Parts: sequence; C-alpha cells; structure tokens
Amino acid sequence: MIKKVLEGLIDVVFPPSCIGCGAFMHESGFGFCPRCVAQIACISSPVCSCCGLPVAGNSGGDHLCGECLREPPSFGKARSLGRYEKALLEAIHRFKYGGDIAIGEILGNWMAAYPYPDFEPKGHSLIIPVPLHLRRLREREFNQSAILAKALSRRFSIPLDAMALKRRVHTEPQVALGKGDREANVRGAFELAAPERVKGERIILVDDVYTTGSTVKECARILMGGKAAAVSVLTLARAV
Ligand SMILES: [Zn+2]
Ligand SMILES: [Zn+2]
Repeated sequence: MIKKVLEGLIDVVFPPSCIGCGAFMHESGFGFCPRCVAQIACISSPVCSCCGLPVAGNSGGDHLCGECLREPPSFGKARSLGRYEKALLEAIHRFKYGGDIAIGEILGNWMAAYPYPDFEPKGHSLIIPVPLHLRRLREREFNQSAILAKALSRRFSIPLDAMALKRRVHTEPQVALGKGDREANVRGAFELAAPERVKGERIILVDDVYTTGSTVKECARILMGGKAAAVSVLTLARAV
C-alpha cells in the first residue's frame, strides 16, 4: 500500500526534515521519515461501502455500517487515507496550527496518490474544499482543505471551485463537542454562492479530518440541494 503511494510521489520534491516528527533526514524521503511512515495506519478494505469507516473482519468485503444503514448520508462515498493518529495527526497539526503550508502541499500529494478502496477520483467533474468562515480564514490565513484540494485538482485535472460553497455562520470549533452537538453546530452553517456552480456536477468534497462526519454530511446535503449529480468525500485522516 505504502509502496504504491510512494511510487505516485516520485516526481515531487521533498524538504530534508520529516513533516511528522521534524527529524532531519539525510536522504530526501517522501515527506515523512521511515519511522513516521511506519506509523501511518492507511485505511484499506474492509470499510463501510458508504462512509469508509474501517469495519471488523477480513473475510467479508466492504459493507454498509450500522450508521449508514440507519441514516444514509447525502454523499455517495467517503474515503480517507489513514487513521487520525500518530505521525499523520502530528503532520496535520504542524500544517493546520503551525501554519506550514508546504506540509499541506505534501499531504495533498499523498492524498492524490493514495489508492482508496473502491473509489476512483477520475469521473468527477468538480472539487470543492470544505470552506472556513471568513473570521477563521483571517485568523489562520489559509484554508487547509483548499490546499489539500488543490493537489487533488492538479493530479486529476479536475477543476477546483473554492468559492462555490460558503460557510455563512461562524461555528464553535467541533473539537470539544459530542456527535449530537456537532450536528446541531453545523446545521445551516453552509450555503451555496450560486446553485448553478454545482448543478449537474459530480463533486469531490475535500476536508482534512473526518471525525463524526457531521460537517461533510451537512456540506453534501447543501450541494445535493443545489442539484449536484453526486457528492463524494475525501479526507486525509479519519478518527476511528
Ligand atoms: Zn518522522
Ligand atoms: Zn458507514
């Protein structure tokens, strides 16, 4: 799995320090030092065929998880590269909170090279990052999801529209909230700049982390409300 990703990254230039632990690397690797690479828990089958949650067992293939059976989300499929822990979590924090955009570009390239289970980015017509509210954008000075989305857009030659979806409400950070509160927190938080920008499009919605899925579910609901043909979700990491 890792080997496949690395092959896809062969043409990208990497800095000499590890984006996970910061250690100096004698040989320019693929962003992560070998120790950190070994820590990344990539997500592969069996997963929930809808939300991509890793499911137990290795005999039966992909199947729907209980939550997707009970409440089918507005997106068709969600997939993530790896578990939100250890080196991948460290790298995301260095990128997002440390403001190191170069790390985001490397992580975006990993995302673009990853062979997701039963998911093909080709065939989509538009890439949309989960937007930040203007206030958060001013604080952070960049939208981490847009930087990841840019790498995907480049790799697959799919147009990127970072303005089609807008966050109209400044919501509390989701980090401290439980699942029910997260859903309430994001309900009504997003709107379309103009429905014709998404109408008929097969969209990949991009975010950095899938936690309970409440943010991407709400975004997908709004995009489908604007008559998008389909919405898939890609995130770098998944909390499981
Ligand atoms: Zn490292
Ligand atoms: Zn599921």
